[in-house]
Amino acid sequence: MKMILLAEALGTFPNACKGFYLYKARQQVIAINSDLPEGIQRIILMHEIAHAVLHRKASGIKPFHDFALFDEASTYEYEANIFTADYLLNDAEVLDLLNVAIRIDNWHLR
Ligand SMILES: [Zn+2]
Repeated sequence: MKMILLAEALGTFPNACKGFYLYKARQQVIAINSDLPEGIQRIILMHEIAHAVLHRKASGIKPFHDFALFDEASTYEYEANIFTADYLLNDAEVLDLLNVAIRIDNWHLR
C-alpha cells in the first residue's frame, strides 16, 4: 500500500496513544505503539489501515490519533472499527457465537 509503518514505544498507561494514521505531502504513515501486546497491535494496525482506506482525505485535515481501543466517538472511528472487525473476525466463528447467544436468549425466555 506504499505506506510508512512505524513501531514506536508510546507507553502502556491507560491513555497512551495506541497508534495513528496521517497523510501528508502525499505520504501515508501509520505508527503503532510497540509497547502494546502483539494481538492488540494487530487490531490497531488494521484500524489504522481502515483510516487509510476509508478516510485518507479527512486525514489531511486532522490526523487520526487513537488513544482508546474501540472508540466510537465519531463516525470515522465507528467505520474503522467495523472495517477492522470484518477483516479480522472469521464469519463462521461469529455466526456460531451469535447462534449460541440466540440459544441462550431463547433458553432464558422459557
Ligand atoms: Zn481511529
